[in-house]
Amino acid sequence: MPSKLKGIPASPGIVVGPVHLLRWEVPEVETTGIDPADVDAEVERLRIAFARTTERLRTVRDRALKAAGAAEAAIFEVQISIVDDPDFVSRVEDVIRQNFSAERAFDVVMLEQRDHFARSPHAMLRERVSDLIDVHIRVLTVLMGLEDHDPVDLPKGANAVLVTHDLTPSLTVQLDRECIAAIATDAGTRASHVAILARSLGLPAVVGLLDATERLRSGEQVILDGTSGILITKPTRAELSEAIARQKQEKVEDAALAQIAVQDAVSRDGQRVEILANVDLPDEAESAAQSGAQGVGLMRTEFLVVGRTTMPDEDEQYEAYANVVRAFAGKPVVIRTFDIGGDKLPVGGWPAEPNPFLGWRAIRMCLDQPALFKTQLRALLRVALLGDVRINLPLVVTVDEVRQARLLIAEASAELTERGVAHRADVPIGIMVETPAAAVLAESLAKDVSFFSIGTNDLVQYTLAVDRGNAALASRYTPLHPAVLRLIKMTCDVANANGVAVGVCGEMASEPIMAFALLGLGIRQLSVSPIAVARVKLIVRGMRTSVATDAANEAMRAATAAEAEQILRARLVAEVDSVLLHA
Ligand code: PEP
Ligand code: MG
Repeated sequence: MPSKLKGIPASPGIVVGPVHLLRWEVPEVETTGIDPADVDAEVERLRIAFARTTERLRTVRDRALKAAGAAEAAIFEVQISIVDDPDFVSRVEDVIRQNFSAERAFDVVMLEQRDHFARSPHAMLRERVSDLIDVHIRVLTVLMGLEDHDPVDLPKGANAVLVTHDLTPSLTVQLDRECIAAIATDAGTRASHVAILARSLGLPAVVGLLDATERLRSGEQVILDGTSGILITKPTRAELSEAIARQKQEKVEDAALAQIAVQDAVSRDGQRVEILANVDLPDEAESAAQSGAQGVGLMRTEFLVVGRTTMPDEDEQYEAYANVVRAFAGKPVVIRTFDIGGDKLPVGGWPAEPNPFLGWRAIRMCLDQPALFKTQLRALLRVALLGDVRINLPLVVTVDEVRQARLLIAEASAELTERGVAHRADVPIGIMVETPAAAVLAESLAKDVSFFSIGTNDLVQYTLAVDRGNAALASRYTPLHPAVLRLIKMTCDVANANGVAVGVCGEMASEPIMAFALLGLGIRQLSVSPIAVARVKLIVRGMRTSVATDAANEAMRAATAAEAEQILRARLVAEVDSVLLHA
């Protein structure tokens, strides 16, 4: 029976291809005693499993070395050394000799070892826990004869739909676009970072499928429709031909949008809107520069760190930022300092937090680690000589944070001067307005900064107290909630009254109805994922801001998000007459 799984559309495009199911969890092991006569055979089974795991890890390491570099490949060296450690091997063998099966013995020793490392006072050992978990999964997979889900074997051109619970940092390193054509996850929402990353990579994606990993099998053919958020299993012939027809239709639409992309975003009543691009990965800079964007409104620098074991040094960062600044030749480029934490983590070594989105994240982490922060700041001040660079501070909730950051920027500049390194000391500094605190305190913050960049992904999450990545709450994550609209309006009015530039760089800016609402609230700068640039220009060019203002005023007075959406949709559809709208 064909079936349709409904998820959340996260990145547009239609792919027909085989599922590659990736389950990355430690399998459950039953406690099975063995006959003493079988002990030697079990020890032999263990040795074979270790040898096969080592071989496997070498293959993965070699692939990571080619795809991501030596620092990433080192993760797998560490894992190889765990299975190669003679002490560790003999501890497992000792447990087998107490008449336990190889899998049970290995499981027990591994759990002890993980517990021991996790409680260690030494950060180095705590950092190894994620490696132990990976080895735990790999060895048990071999011993228990389970299917190996590692994407390492996928041949180039496999056109696979990667189905997994969530995209973890160590998986991110392995995402090979030459074999993976689309992503489907149980977890996530449109605003979660897996969705943002998929859009950056240009991979169609459906997230928030809840139980896709339970319902799908590797190898089965599916249709993934990232535009409507549907995954069709066991497609019928009719569904396959419809998917292929829709693929063709999307190509035609893309060609029409490409014509709009190069035009200016000026509304029918003559208001000019600046459309910028969000850049998440430095490699994306060239294609983002071709999207029709007039600059970069948000570069998420933390993606230089996610999935890695080490922090990039000053020169590596300089090169990454310079790549983007050069690609946008002279146009404004807003680079945000590391927003690490929450769901964007390096591999290993990050303190486990009960509430990561309310935890040690973004500017908090940077201010607490001045050496790490100043390395980034020095790279930014140097790169500012290459173009119109601006520095943006994430998750600011107090004026103090801006002042402390300014002090560190001054120190970074003094350090460069002392080293005789050319740089620009007076780079404009702005903040992300992504908490209700920042929106309410905008008046005070405006005195200390040159621009506000409203990060609606977090602003919605913190205003409505709804986790942006929790698929079970996706229907409650409503950016058009009147409370959110009012906070945006407040921030925009304060910015305009104080001569501070203001724009929106959250995902709201990429969605037709929401972009229309933002323009109605007075926003004149939108930073969107490169694939959305043309469609947002289409909206601006097709509408009058006076109509958007009326609609937004009415939406702000609505009692619910659904009511606000209804008001805005009706007005947008009546205003912009285009088959390309998809409102
Ligand atoms: C936001 O919160 O809206 C934002 C742009 O930042 P991020 O999505 O990286 O948290
Ligand atoms: Mg944010």
